[in-house]
Amino acid sequence: IKRNPHESEFHQAVKEILDSLIPVLTKHPKYRQNGILERILEPERLITFRVPWVDDQGTVRVNRGFRVQFNSAIGPFKGGLRFHPSVNASIIKFLGFEQTFKNSLTGQPIGGGKGGSDFDPKGKSDGEIMRFTQSFMTELYKYIGPDIDVPAGDIGVGAREIGYMFGQYKRIRGGFEAGVLTGKGIGYGGSLARTEATGYGCVYFVNEMLNSKGLSFEGSTVVVSGSGNVAIYAMQKAFQLGAKIVACSDSNGYIYDKDGIHLETVRRLKEVERKRISEYVKEHPNAIYVEGCQNIWTIPCDIALPCATQNEIDESSAKLLILNGVQAIGEGANMPCTLEAIDAFLKAGVLFGPAKAANAGGVAVSALEMSQNSMRYSWSFHEVDDKLHAIMKNIYRNSVRASEEYGAPGNLVVGANIAGFLKVADAMLAQGVI
Ligand code: NDP
Repeated sequence: IKRNPHESEFHQAVKEILDSLIPVLTKHPKYRQNGILERILEPERLITFRVPWVDDQGTVRVNRGFRVQFNSAIGPFKGGLRFHPSVNASIIKFLGFEQTFKNSLTGQPIGGGKGGSDFDPKGKSDGEIMRFTQSFMTELYKYIGPDIDVPAGDIGVGAREIGYMFGQYKRIRGGFEAGVLTGKGIGYGGSLARTEATGYGCVYFVNEMLNSKGLSFEGSTVVVSGSGNVAIYAMQKAFQLGAKIVACSDSNGYIYDKDGIHLETVRRLKEVERKRISEYVKEHPNAIYVEGCQNIWTIPCDIALPCATQNEIDESSAKLLILNGVQAIGEGANMPCTLEAIDAFLKAGVLFGPAKAANAGGVAVSALEMSQNSMRYSWSFHEVDDKLHAIMKNIYRNSVRASEEYGAPGNLVVGANIAGFLKVADAMLAQGVI
Protein backbone atom coordinates (compact mmCIF):
# COMPACT_ATOMS: atom_id res chain seq x y z
CA ILE A 1 0.00 0.00 0.00
CA LYS A 2 2.93 2.33 0.81
CA ARG A 3 4.57 1.50 -2.50
CA ASN A 4 1.44 2.00 -4.59
CA PRO A 5 -0.66 4.66 -2.86
CA HIS A 6 -4.04 5.59 -4.36
CA GLU A 7 -4.33 2.24 -6.16
CA SER A 8 -7.33 0.79 -4.35
CA GLU A 9 -8.46 -1.50 -7.19
CA PHE A 10 -4.96 -2.95 -7.51
CA HIS A 11 -4.78 -3.50 -3.73
CA GLN A 12 -8.17 -5.25 -3.84
CA ALA A 13 -7.05 -7.66 -6.59
CA VAL A 14 -3.74 -8.36 -4.82
CA LYS A 15 -5.45 -9.03 -1.49
CA GLU A 16 -7.82 -11.55 -3.05
CA ILE A 17 -4.94 -13.49 -4.61
CA LEU A 18 -2.56 -13.35 -1.65
CA ASP A 19 -5.23 -14.52 0.80
CA SER A 20 -5.89 -17.52 -1.45
CA LEU A 21 -2.21 -18.41 -1.70
CA ILE A 22 -1.59 -18.86 2.04
CA PRO A 23 -2.01 -22.69 1.92
CA VAL A 24 0.35 -22.94 -1.08
CA LEU A 25 3.01 -20.80 0.57
CA THR A 26 2.71 -22.85 3.76
CA LYS A 27 3.00 -26.18 1.94
CA HIS A 28 5.76 -25.15 -0.51
CA PRO A 29 8.33 -22.72 0.97
CA LYS A 30 10.02 -22.38 -2.46
CA TYR A 31 7.24 -19.96 -3.45
CA ARG A 32 8.04 -17.76 -0.44
CA GLN A 33 11.70 -17.71 -1.35
CA ASN A 34 13.34 -16.45 -4.54
CA GLY A 35 11.30 -13.24 -4.37
CA ILE A 36 8.46 -14.89 -6.27
CA LEU A 37 5.73 -12.86 -4.57
CA GLU A 38 7.67 -9.59 -4.72
CA ARG A 39 8.34 -10.12 -8.42
CA ILE A 40 4.83 -11.29 -9.32
CA LEU A 41 3.33 -8.15 -7.72
CA GLU A 42 5.54 -5.78 -9.70
CA PRO A 43 4.73 -5.32 -13.40
CA GLU A 44 7.64 -5.92 -15.77
CA ARG A 45 6.82 -2.43 -17.02
CA LEU A 46 4.05 0.16 -17.01
CA ILE A 47 4.04 2.51 -19.97
CA THR A 48 2.06 5.78 -19.91
CA PHE A 49 1.87 8.15 -22.80
CA ARG A 50 0.21 11.26 -24.23
CA VAL A 51 -2.54 10.75 -26.82
CA PRO A 52 -3.23 14.03 -28.66
CA TRP A 53 -6.06 14.17 -31.21
CA VAL A 54 -8.31 16.71 -32.90
CA ASP A 55 -12.09 16.67 -32.37
CA ASP A 56 -14.73 17.51 -34.97
CA GLN A 57 -14.69 21.18 -33.95
CA GLY A 58 -10.95 21.38 -34.64
CA THR A 59 -10.03 21.55 -30.94
CA VAL A 60 -6.93 19.68 -29.81
CA ARG A 61 -7.72 17.15 -27.06
CA VAL A 62 -5.27 15.21 -24.94
CA ASN A 63 -5.88 11.86 -23.24
CA ARG A 64 -3.60 9.54 -21.34
CA GLY A 65 -2.67 6.11 -22.71
CA PHE A 66 -1.50 3.10 -20.69
CA ARG A 67 -0.04 -0.34 -21.29
CA VAL A 68 1.00 -2.57 -18.42
CA GLN A 69 3.20 -5.54 -19.34
CA PHE A 70 2.69 -7.47 -16.16
CA ASN A 71 4.20 -10.90 -16.54
CA SER A 72 5.72 -12.78 -19.49
CA ALA A 73 6.81 -15.94 -17.66
CA ILE A 74 4.63 -18.25 -19.76
CA GLY A 75 4.19 -16.32 -23.01
CA PRO A 76 3.90 -12.92 -24.70
CA PHE A 77 1.91 -10.29 -22.79
CA LYS A 78 -1.78 -10.59 -23.66
CA GLY A 79 -4.78 -8.57 -22.52
CA GLY A 80 -7.35 -6.05 -23.66
CA LEU A 81 -7.45 -2.28 -24.06
CA ARG A 82 -10.12 -0.31 -22.19
CA PHE A 83 -11.37 3.13 -23.26
CA HIS A 84 -13.35 4.63 -20.39
CA PRO A 85 -13.04 7.88 -18.41
CA SER A 86 -12.38 5.91 -15.20
CA VAL A 87 -9.15 4.39 -16.57
CA ASN A 88 -6.04 5.12 -14.48
CA ALA A 89 -2.89 3.26 -13.39
CA SER A 90 -4.72 1.43 -10.58
CA ILE A 91 -7.44 0.07 -12.88
CA ILE A 92 -4.93 -0.99 -15.53
CA LYS A 93 -2.68 -2.66 -12.93
CA PHE A 94 -5.53 -4.58 -11.31
CA LEU A 95 -6.66 -5.79 -14.73
CA GLY A 96 -3.14 -6.75 -15.82
CA PHE A 97 -2.44 -8.55 -12.55
CA GLU A 98 -5.67 -10.56 -12.81
CA GLN A 99 -4.98 -11.25 -16.46
CA THR A 100 -1.69 -12.98 -15.62
CA PHE A 101 -3.48 -15.67 -13.59
CA LYS A 102 -6.46 -15.89 -15.93
CA ASN A 103 -4.25 -16.46 -18.95
CA SER A 104 -2.36 -19.14 -17.07
CA LEU A 105 -5.65 -20.87 -16.21
CA THR A 106 -6.62 -21.16 -19.88
CA GLY A 107 -3.71 -23.59 -20.35
CA GLN A 108 -2.41 -21.52 -23.27
CA PRO A 109 1.06 -19.93 -23.56
CA ILE A 110 0.12 -16.30 -22.88
CA GLY A 111 1.45 -13.85 -20.30
CA GLY A 112 -0.49 -11.02 -18.64
CA GLY A 113 -0.95 -7.46 -19.89
CA LYS A 114 -3.61 -4.77 -20.13
CA GLY A 115 -3.97 -1.22 -21.35
CA GLY A 116 -6.26 1.56 -22.40
CA SER A 117 -7.04 5.22 -22.03
CA ASP A 118 -9.24 7.64 -20.11
CA PHE A 119 -10.79 8.56 -23.48
CA ASP A 120 -14.60 8.43 -23.39
CA PRO A 121 -15.95 6.97 -26.65
CA LYS A 122 -19.55 7.89 -25.74
CA GLY A 123 -21.01 10.51 -28.05
CA LYS A 124 -17.91 10.63 -30.28
CA SER A 125 -18.28 10.56 -34.06
CA ASP A 126 -16.76 7.80 -36.15
CA GLY A 127 -14.09 10.23 -37.37
CA GLU A 128 -13.16 11.20 -33.81
CA ILE A 129 -12.90 7.53 -32.80
CA MET A 130 -10.62 6.90 -35.77
CA ARG A 131 -8.35 9.87 -35.11
CA PHE A 132 -8.08 9.00 -31.43
CA THR A 133 -7.31 5.30 -32.01
CA GLN A 134 -4.74 6.15 -34.69
CA SER A 135 -2.99 8.54 -32.32
CA PHE A 136 -3.11 5.91 -29.56
CA MET A 137 -1.52 3.29 -31.82
CA THR A 138 1.12 5.73 -33.07
CA GLU A 139 2.68 5.45 -29.61
CA LEU A 140 1.59 1.93 -28.60
CA TYR A 141 3.09 0.23 -31.69
CA LYS A 142 6.60 0.66 -30.23
CA TYR A 143 5.88 -1.77 -27.43
CA ILE A 144 3.78 -4.52 -29.06
CA GLY A 145 4.19 -7.31 -31.61
CA PRO A 146 2.88 -10.84 -32.31
CA ASP A 147 5.58 -12.43 -30.09
CA ILE A 148 5.92 -9.53 -27.62
CA ASP A 149 2.56 -8.16 -26.55
CA VAL A 150 -0.82 -8.75 -28.18
CA PRO A 151 -3.63 -6.33 -27.17
CA ALA A 152 -7.35 -6.94 -27.72
CA GLY A 153 -10.68 -5.26 -26.85
CA ASP A 154 -12.31 -4.53 -23.49
CA ILE A 155 -14.81 -1.89 -22.32
CA GLY A 156 -15.22 0.70 -25.08
CA VAL A 157 -13.00 -1.20 -27.52
CA GLY A 158 -14.77 -3.46 -29.99
CA ALA A 159 -14.30 -4.55 -33.61
CA ARG A 160 -14.41 -0.97 -34.95
CA GLU A 161 -11.63 0.29 -32.68
CA ILE A 162 -9.50 -2.83 -33.20
CA GLY A 163 -9.91 -2.35 -36.97
CA TYR A 164 -8.65 1.25 -36.86
CA MET A 165 -5.75 0.30 -34.59
CA PHE A 166 -4.77 -2.62 -36.79
CA GLY A 167 -4.83 -0.35 -39.86
CA GLN A 168 -2.57 2.19 -38.17
CA TYR A 169 -0.14 -0.48 -36.91
CA LYS A 170 0.10 -1.95 -40.42
CA ARG A 171 0.69 1.47 -41.93
CA ILE A 172 3.53 2.29 -39.51
CA ARG A 173 5.22 -1.11 -39.48
CA GLY A 174 4.60 -2.23 -43.05
CA GLY A 175 3.78 -5.90 -43.75
CA PHE A 176 0.77 -7.73 -42.43
CA GLU A 177 1.42 -8.94 -38.88
CA ALA A 178 -2.06 -10.37 -38.25
CA GLY A 179 -1.12 -11.71 -34.81
CA VAL A 180 -0.40 -8.30 -33.27
CA LEU A 181 -4.00 -7.70 -32.17
CA THR A 182 -6.92 -10.02 -31.53
CA GLY A 183 -10.63 -9.37 -31.89
CA LYS A 184 -10.05 -8.42 -35.54
CA GLY A 185 -12.80 -8.57 -38.16
CA ILE A 186 -13.33 -11.99 -39.73
CA GLY A 187 -12.27 -10.72 -43.17
CA TYR A 188 -8.73 -9.81 -42.08
CA GLY A 189 -7.56 -12.41 -39.60
CA GLY A 190 -10.20 -12.46 -36.86
CA SER A 191 -11.47 -15.70 -35.37
CA LEU A 192 -15.02 -16.90 -35.65
CA ALA A 193 -16.67 -17.10 -32.20
CA ARG A 194 -14.31 -14.49 -30.66
CA THR A 195 -17.19 -12.01 -30.34
CA GLU A 196 -19.27 -14.60 -28.49
CA ALA A 197 -16.40 -16.16 -26.52
CA THR A 198 -16.43 -14.35 -23.16
CA GLY A 199 -20.22 -14.45 -22.73
CA TYR A 200 -20.56 -18.04 -23.95
CA GLY A 201 -17.57 -19.13 -21.88
CA CYS A 202 -19.05 -17.58 -18.75
CA VAL A 203 -22.29 -19.49 -19.24
CA TYR A 204 -20.41 -22.74 -19.97
CA PHE A 205 -18.52 -22.27 -16.71
CA VAL A 206 -21.65 -21.53 -14.66
CA ASN A 207 -23.33 -24.53 -16.29
CA GLU A 208 -20.53 -26.77 -14.97
CA MET A 209 -21.06 -25.37 -11.46
CA LEU A 210 -24.84 -25.88 -11.70
CA ASN A 211 -24.51 -29.42 -13.10
CA SER A 212 -22.27 -30.38 -10.18
CA LYS A 213 -25.30 -29.78 -7.92
CA GLY A 214 -27.85 -31.35 -10.26
CA LEU A 215 -29.04 -27.89 -11.41
CA SER A 216 -29.10 -26.26 -14.87
CA PHE A 217 -30.04 -23.10 -16.78
CA GLU A 218 -33.24 -24.79 -18.04
CA GLY A 219 -36.24 -22.94 -16.61
CA SER A 220 -34.09 -20.58 -14.51
CA THR A 221 -34.50 -16.80 -14.16
CA VAL A 222 -31.35 -14.83 -14.94
CA VAL A 223 -30.31 -11.20 -14.34
CA VAL A 224 -27.37 -9.86 -16.36
CA SER A 225 -25.75 -6.47 -15.83
CA GLY A 226 -24.37 -4.56 -18.80
CA SER A 227 -25.46 -4.80 -22.41
CA GLY A 228 -22.05 -4.81 -24.05
CA ASN A 229 -20.05 -7.58 -25.66
CA VAL A 230 -19.88 -9.91 -22.66
CA ALA A 231 -23.47 -9.35 -21.50
CA ILE A 232 -25.11 -9.84 -24.91
CA TYR A 233 -23.50 -13.21 -25.59
CA ALA A 234 -23.93 -14.42 -22.02
CA MET A 235 -27.64 -13.68 -22.48
CA GLN A 236 -27.70 -15.43 -25.84
CA LYS A 237 -26.11 -18.64 -24.53
CA ALA A 238 -28.20 -18.67 -21.33
CA PHE A 239 -31.32 -18.27 -23.48
CA GLN A 240 -30.19 -21.15 -25.73
CA LEU A 241 -29.83 -23.30 -22.61
CA GLY A 242 -33.43 -22.59 -21.62
CA ALA A 243 -33.11 -19.64 -19.22
CA LYS A 244 -35.36 -16.59 -19.06
CA ILE A 245 -33.34 -13.36 -18.89
CA VAL A 246 -35.43 -10.71 -17.14
CA ALA A 247 -33.05 -7.75 -16.79
CA CYS A 248 -29.95 -6.09 -18.23
CA SER A 249 -28.43 -2.60 -18.01
CA ASP A 250 -26.04 0.02 -19.28
CA SER A 251 -24.22 2.70 -17.33
CA ASN A 252 -27.37 4.86 -17.14
CA GLY A 253 -29.94 2.35 -15.89
CA TYR A 254 -31.58 -1.04 -16.32
CA ILE A 255 -34.56 -2.64 -18.04
CA TYR A 256 -36.79 -5.25 -16.45
CA ASP A 257 -38.99 -7.42 -18.65
CA LYS A 258 -40.73 -10.07 -16.56
CA ASP A 259 -41.70 -12.08 -19.66
CA GLY A 260 -38.11 -12.28 -20.81
CA ILE A 261 -35.92 -9.75 -22.62
CA HIS A 262 -36.02 -9.65 -26.43
CA LEU A 263 -32.34 -10.07 -27.08
CA GLU A 264 -32.50 -9.06 -30.74
CA THR A 265 -33.79 -5.62 -29.73
CA VAL A 266 -30.96 -5.20 -27.21
CA ARG A 267 -28.39 -6.30 -29.81
CA ARG A 268 -29.67 -3.89 -32.44
CA LEU A 269 -29.88 -0.97 -30.00
CA LYS A 270 -26.41 -1.51 -28.55
CA GLU A 271 -24.36 -3.14 -31.32
CA VAL A 272 -25.77 -1.42 -34.39
CA GLU A 273 -27.46 1.80 -33.36
CA ARG A 274 -25.19 2.48 -30.32
CA LYS A 275 -28.17 3.82 -28.35
CA ARG A 276 -29.05 3.76 -24.65
CA ILE A 277 -30.79 0.74 -23.11
CA SER A 278 -33.69 3.02 -22.09
CA GLU A 279 -34.82 2.97 -25.74
CA TYR A 280 -35.86 -0.68 -25.26
CA VAL A 281 -39.11 0.23 -23.48
CA LYS A 282 -40.28 2.30 -26.48
CA GLU A 283 -40.44 -0.95 -28.47
CA HIS A 284 -41.57 -3.18 -25.59
CA PRO A 285 -43.94 -1.11 -23.45
CA ASN A 286 -44.57 -4.00 -21.03
CA ALA A 287 -40.98 -3.72 -19.85
CA ILE A 288 -39.88 -1.06 -17.38
CA TYR A 289 -36.78 1.16 -17.39
CA VAL A 290 -35.20 2.27 -14.12
CA GLU A 291 -32.61 5.06 -14.03
CA GLY A 292 -29.40 4.02 -12.18
CA CYS A 293 -27.81 0.56 -12.23
CA GLN A 294 -27.41 -0.53 -8.62
CA ASN A 295 -30.99 -1.67 -8.02
CA ILE A 296 -30.79 -4.27 -10.77
CA TRP A 297 -29.67 -6.67 -8.03
CA THR A 298 -32.97 -6.23 -6.16
CA ILE A 299 -34.65 -8.30 -8.88
CA PRO A 300 -35.13 -11.90 -7.69
CA CYS A 301 -33.25 -14.42 -9.82
CA ASP A 302 -31.75 -17.92 -9.74
CA ILE A 303 -28.56 -16.92 -11.53
CA ALA A 304 -26.83 -13.51 -11.58
CA LEU A 305 -24.24 -12.70 -14.23
CA PRO A 306 -22.53 -9.34 -13.53
CA CYS A 307 -21.06 -8.45 -16.95
CA ALA A 308 -20.57 -4.65 -16.80
CA THR A 309 -17.67 -3.42 -14.66
CA GLN A 310 -15.69 -3.69 -11.41
CA ASN A 311 -17.29 -3.48 -7.95
CA GLU A 312 -20.90 -3.45 -9.18
CA ILE A 313 -22.08 -5.95 -6.51
CA ASP A 314 -21.29 -4.81 -2.98
CA GLU A 315 -22.08 -6.58 0.26
CA SER A 316 -25.64 -5.22 0.54
CA SER A 317 -26.50 -6.19 -3.05
CA ALA A 318 -25.02 -9.63 -2.40
CA LYS A 319 -27.13 -10.07 0.74
CA LEU A 320 -30.24 -9.07 -1.18
CA LEU A 321 -29.50 -11.56 -3.94
CA ILE A 322 -28.99 -14.28 -1.31
CA LEU A 323 -32.24 -13.32 0.45
CA ASN A 324 -34.04 -13.60 -2.89
CA GLY A 325 -32.72 -17.14 -3.37
CA VAL A 326 -29.88 -16.75 -5.89
CA GLN A 327 -28.18 -20.10 -6.57
CA ALA A 328 -25.21 -19.13 -8.72
CA ILE A 329 -23.06 -16.11 -9.64
CA GLY A 330 -20.87 -16.01 -12.75
CA GLU A 331 -18.49 -13.06 -12.95
CA GLY A 332 -18.53 -12.10 -16.64
CA ALA A 333 -16.92 -8.73 -15.88
CA ASN A 334 -13.55 -8.32 -14.16
CA MET A 335 -13.84 -8.03 -10.35
CA PRO A 336 -17.57 -7.11 -10.41
CA CYS A 337 -18.04 -8.30 -6.80
CA THR A 338 -16.33 -6.63 -3.85
CA LEU A 339 -14.34 -8.84 -1.44
CA GLU A 340 -17.18 -8.51 1.11
CA ALA A 341 -19.77 -9.58 -1.49
CA ILE A 342 -17.71 -12.66 -2.43
CA ASP A 343 -17.42 -13.55 1.23
CA ALA A 344 -21.20 -13.29 1.68
CA PHE A 345 -21.87 -15.55 -1.33
CA LEU A 346 -19.37 -18.19 -0.20
CA LYS A 347 -20.69 -18.19 3.37
CA ALA A 348 -24.27 -18.62 2.09
CA GLY A 349 -23.23 -21.60 -0.07
CA VAL A 350 -24.02 -19.80 -3.35
CA LEU A 351 -22.12 -21.29 -6.30
CA PHE A 352 -19.54 -18.65 -7.20
CA GLY A 353 -17.60 -18.50 -10.48
CA PRO A 354 -14.78 -15.93 -10.09
CA ALA A 355 -13.88 -13.72 -13.03
CA LYS A 356 -10.46 -15.08 -13.77
CA ALA A 357 -12.02 -18.50 -14.36
CA ALA A 358 -15.54 -17.64 -15.54
CA ASN A 359 -14.59 -14.94 -18.07
CA ALA A 360 -11.38 -16.55 -19.37
CA GLY A 361 -13.17 -17.72 -22.53
CA GLY A 362 -12.49 -14.41 -24.31
CA VAL A 363 -8.76 -14.48 -23.93
CA ALA A 364 -8.72 -18.23 -24.59
CA VAL A 365 -10.29 -17.67 -28.00
CA SER A 366 -7.96 -14.70 -28.55
CA ALA A 367 -5.10 -17.17 -28.12
CA LEU A 368 -6.85 -19.43 -30.65
CA GLU A 369 -6.99 -16.40 -32.98
CA MET A 370 -3.21 -16.02 -32.57
CA SER A 371 -2.76 -19.72 -33.40
CA GLN A 372 -4.90 -19.40 -36.54
CA ASN A 373 -2.94 -16.29 -37.59
CA SER A 374 0.37 -18.18 -37.15
CA MET A 375 -0.95 -21.12 -39.16
CA ARG A 376 -2.55 -18.81 -41.76
CA TYR A 377 -5.68 -20.86 -41.36
CA SER A 378 -9.26 -20.40 -40.04
CA TRP A 379 -11.27 -22.81 -38.01
CA SER A 380 -15.08 -22.96 -38.37
CA PHE A 381 -17.38 -21.43 -35.74
CA HIS A 382 -18.14 -24.89 -34.36
CA GLU A 383 -14.49 -25.88 -34.15
CA VAL A 384 -13.70 -22.76 -32.13
CA ASP A 385 -16.82 -23.06 -29.98
CA ASP A 386 -16.03 -26.73 -29.21
CA LYS A 387 -12.48 -25.78 -28.21
CA LEU A 388 -13.86 -22.95 -26.03
CA HIS A 389 -16.29 -25.34 -24.35
CA ALA A 390 -13.50 -27.84 -23.65
CA ILE A 391 -11.26 -25.07 -22.26
CA MET A 392 -14.00 -23.81 -19.89
CA LYS A 393 -14.64 -27.35 -18.62
CA ASN A 394 -10.93 -27.77 -18.07
CA ILE A 395 -10.65 -24.49 -16.15
CA TYR A 396 -13.56 -25.60 -13.98
CA ARG A 397 -11.98 -29.02 -13.28
CA ASN A 398 -8.55 -27.55 -12.51
CA SER A 399 -10.07 -24.94 -10.17
CA VAL A 400 -12.09 -27.59 -8.33
CA ARG A 401 -9.04 -29.85 -8.05
CA ALA A 402 -6.83 -27.07 -6.65
CA SER A 403 -9.54 -26.03 -4.17
CA GLU A 404 -9.70 -29.61 -2.89
CA GLU A 405 -5.95 -30.16 -2.80
CA TYR A 406 -5.38 -27.00 -0.76
CA GLY A 407 -8.12 -27.50 1.81
CA ALA A 408 -10.94 -25.30 0.48
CA PRO A 409 -13.19 -27.73 -1.44
CA GLY A 410 -15.75 -25.97 -3.63
CA ASN A 411 -14.18 -22.53 -3.14
CA LEU A 412 -13.39 -21.70 -6.76
CA VAL A 413 -11.92 -18.30 -5.85
CA VAL A 414 -9.15 -20.11 -3.99
CA GLY A 415 -9.00 -22.90 -6.59
CA ALA A 416 -8.67 -20.59 -9.61
CA ASN A 417 -6.11 -18.35 -7.91
CA ILE A 418 -3.93 -21.30 -6.90
CA ALA A 419 -4.17 -23.13 -10.23
CA GLY A 420 -3.31 -19.91 -12.10
CA PHE A 421 -0.47 -19.00 -9.75
CA LEU A 422 1.37 -22.35 -9.75
CA LYS A 423 2.07 -22.41 -13.48
CA VAL A 424 3.35 -18.82 -13.54
CA ALA A 425 5.43 -19.27 -10.37
CA ASP A 426 7.01 -22.50 -11.64
CA ALA A 427 7.95 -20.83 -14.93
CA MET A 428 9.47 -17.90 -13.01
CA LEU A 429 11.49 -20.26 -10.83
CA ALA A 430 12.76 -22.11 -13.91
CA GLN A 431 13.85 -18.86 -15.61
CA GLY A 432 15.93 -17.52 -12.72
CA VAL A 433 15.82 -14.12 -11.07
CA ILE A 434 14.74 -11.81 -13.89
P1 NDP B 1 -18.48 -3.23 -23.44
O1 NDP B 1 -17.92 -1.86 -23.55
O2 NDP B 1 -18.86 -3.96 -24.66
O3 NDP B 1 -19.76 -3.21 -22.48
C1 NDP B 1 -19.69 -2.75 -21.17
C2 NDP B 1 -21.09 -2.67 -20.62
O4 NDP B 1 -21.03 -2.33 -19.23
C3 NDP B 1 -21.92 -1.59 -21.29
O5 NDP B 1 -23.28 -1.96 -21.25
C4 NDP B 1 -21.64 -0.37 -20.40
O6 NDP B 1 -22.65 0.60 -20.45
C5 NDP B 1 -21.59 -1.03 -19.02
N1 NDP B 1 -20.70 -0.26 -18.16
C6 NDP B 1 -19.44 0.14 -18.40
N2 NDP B 1 -18.94 0.84 -17.38
C7 NDP B 1 -19.92 0.88 -16.47
C8 NDP B 1 -20.02 1.47 -15.19
N3 NDP B 1 -18.99 2.15 -14.65
N4 NDP B 1 -21.18 1.31 -14.52
C9 NDP B 1 -22.22 0.61 -15.06
N5 NDP B 1 -22.17 0.03 -16.27
C10 NDP B 1 -21.05 0.18 -16.96
O7 NDP B 1 -17.41 -4.06 -22.59
P2 NDP B 1 -17.26 -5.63 -22.43
O8 NDP B 1 -18.60 -6.28 -22.49
O9 NDP B 1 -16.20 -6.07 -23.35
O10 NDP B 1 -16.66 -5.74 -20.96
C11 NDP B 1 -17.47 -5.86 -19.79
C12 NDP B 1 -16.65 -6.44 -18.66
O11 NDP B 1 -16.16 -7.73 -19.04
C13 NDP B 1 -15.41 -5.63 -18.25
O12 NDP B 1 -15.20 -5.80 -16.87
C14 NDP B 1 -14.30 -6.33 -19.02
O13 NDP B 1 -13.03 -6.12 -18.42
C15 NDP B 1 -14.74 -7.78 -18.88
N6 NDP B 1 -14.17 -8.70 -19.85
C16 NDP B 1 -14.37 -8.51 -21.20
C17 NDP B 1 -13.85 -9.41 -22.09
C18 NDP B 1 -14.15 -9.34 -23.55
O14 NDP B 1 -13.81 -10.28 -24.27
N7 NDP B 1 -14.79 -8.29 -24.05
C19 NDP B 1 -13.00 -10.54 -21.65
C20 NDP B 1 -12.95 -10.70 -20.20
C21 NDP B 1 -13.48 -9.78 -19.37
P3 NDP B 1 -22.58 1.79 -21.52
O15 NDP B 1 -23.10 1.22 -22.79
O16 NDP B 1 -23.45 2.82 -20.91
O17 NDP B 1 -21.15 2.20 -21.59
